[in-house]
Amino acid sequence: MGSPMDDCIFCKIAAGQIKSTIVYQSETVVAFRDVNPQAPVHVLVIPRKHIEKVVRLEEKDVPLLGELFKAIKSVAESEKITEKGFRVVVNNGREAGQTVDHVHFHVLGGRPMEWPPG
Ligand code: 5GP
Ligand code: ZN
Repeated sequence: MGSPMDDCIFCKIAAGQIKSTIVYQSETVVAFRDVNPQAPVHVLVIPRKHIEKVVRLEEKDVPLLGELFKAIKSVAESEKITEKGFRVVVNNGREAGQTVDHVHFHVLGGRPMEWPPG
């Protein structure tokens, strides 16, 4: 499963040690509502395994990426934004705005989105 990091809030959420509103979970993936939502739907999809950021993903994580996208699709369906449209965002590194060092996919929807992002 990969070693949980003691000081990682998303490892703690995945382990149920920090409360969150979980909307999807499997053996490998957890999805929960963002505590500070930026859209009517704002769900974070994470691997249970601690991976710091996109550039730390390895060849052996390819099946996990499939599981993450399966979760994203499932969340879009349960949140009823599959056909209206939604955005999937992954901030990688400080300049991109990553504040939690456990890789996560933002699923944002329920309102029109602008482009380019800020
Ligand atoms: P980042 O800025 O790293 O791409 O996204 C981190 C996200 O995690 C932010 O949108 C922030 O609101 C959310 N977040 C931070 N701490 C918590 C928490 O304890 N619980 C939940 N549900 N979301 C959190
Ligand atoms: Zn972690």
